[in-house]
Amino acid sequence: MFPPFTLRYARLPERFYAHFEPVPVREPHLVAFNRPLAEALGFDLAAFDAEEAAVWFSGNVVPHGAEPLAQAYAGHQFGGFVPQLGDGRAVLLGEVTDRDGRLRDIQLKGAGRTPFSRGGDGRAPLGPVLREYLVSEAMHAMGIPTTRALAAVTTGERVMRGIPEPGAILTRVASSHIRVGTFQYFAARGDIDGVRELAGHVIERHYPALESRQDGERYLGLLEAVQARQAALIAKWMGVGFIHGVMNTDNTSISGETIDFGPCAFMEQYDPKMVFSSIDEGGRYAYSNQPWIAQWNLARLAETLLPLIDDDSERAVERATELLQRFPEQYEREWLAVMRAKLGLTSEKPGDKALIESLLAAMHRGRADFTLTFRRLADVAESAAAEASLVELFERPEEIAGWLEEWRERLAQEEPGESERAQRMRLANPAFIPRNHRVQQALTAAMDENDYGPFETLLDIITHPFDDQPGREEYMRPAEPTERVFRTFCGT
Ligand code: AMP
Ligand code: MG
Repeated sequence: MFPPFTLRYARLPERFYAHFEPVPVREPHLVAFNRPLAEALGFDLAAFDAEEAAVWFSGNVVPHGAEPLAQAYAGHQFGGFVPQLGDGRAVLLGEVTDRDGRLRDIQLKGAGRTPFSRGGDGRAPLGPVLREYLVSEAMHAMGIPTTRALAAVTTGERVMRGIPEPGAILTRVASSHIRVGTFQYFAARGDIDGVRELAGHVIERHYPALESRQDGERYLGLLEAVQARQAALIAKWMGVGFIHGVMNTDNTSISGETIDFGPCAFMEQYDPKMVFSSIDEGGRYAYSNQPWIAQWNLARLAETLLPLIDDDSERAVERATELLQRFPEQYEREWLAVMRAKLGLTSEKPGDKALIESLLAAMHRGRADFTLTFRRLADVAESAAAEASLVELFERPEEIAGWLEEWRERLAQEEPGESERAQRMRLANPAFIPRNHRVQQALTAAMDENDYGPFETLLDIITHPFDDQPGREEYMRPAEPTERVFRTFCGT
């Protein structure tokens, strides 16, 4: 069933990981399987059998050619450095080459206690596994770089999270699982050769255009390339109201994919200070802080590369700093591109930033739903008759009415073509996001009643985020006050 494994990471020096076989589980049962992704990865599904798949995706049997391992990494968690984290419950089986010729990691998350488990049990509860499945697939469908979910199995075992919960394992697919924290792991040990070797692996895998560069330019180029992908990624998060919740350096992927869907959530009423995570007491990872946290995380990556950038440490710091200082401008360019598309603008005018900011300010004061505001704006682009349904989202209708005037004046400077504009806007403004209360309902039905119907329905809806889906309007609406989710938990 599995395509052949390449073992690039496993061929890196032994100190990069620990060999580790998944710990078998009692009674594996396949509860979700991503067929289109499996096909894209080159799985042979001709004789697909769910019982057999459960055996593979639980790790009860290691597929032929895999060399399972737990990766070593470090990381800054909420600003504090932890020199050793590592895969405490995840096992990398190896990489496969997908139909587009790209290497993709296949990892089982929740596969048992590894040498990096510290106090943890090495397992994952079903709730967070299904949550990651839903949210990562929704992100992908919205065109946002992300790790993917290939399969979810229940284990037939309980995990203790205050109360006993059903255990599960997620098969996660990623361009790689290399993080800023992977670089920090070696740098913290003064292992410059390790950093160099890791950088070489990353360049070959993710940034091959840098291979022709020499010496310090290679590593500065690496920092620059990672920075560009982070700027683009965070701009996309901001464009859909996504709050990651734990932007620690160990959760910052070098490939520029969204990784680790612990306490993440989508904002409903627009509030730039929004925080969902129960452990983020200081609001470090609030919505509007995300770009600046990304920059902070990039600075941590830069520190690990300094000795490779220049032998003269002052010169190295100077060059890295100069690069990092360009982040705000780079991010703003990405963000403006995202937001212009959301407003249906194809040209660039100097007043655009102010126009966007004044809409956001009106949304904030009017407590308007982030997703619906933009989606209904697309309807307004098509027909002025839709205006009432947009205005009703705002507690202060006069503000948005005033803003619509400004927007129309700005649209008058665009090429004509109203109906195309509305269509374009619909492709930049999802109708359906994984709203927190819907996710919660899907998880509860699966956990409490073993009913996967709501999970499957929701998955189908949010993996077609830009389509109008007649009959499913209920899934577009924000939570009622009684349904509202205020806090999310890591669930680890
Ligand atoms: P996370 O909060 O998921 O980013 O994880 C942070 C660190 O804690 C990583 O090193 C994880 O591997 C580890 N970890 C999280 N949950 C568990 C668990 N149940 N057992 C062992 N290690 C864990
Ligand atoms: Mg993590």
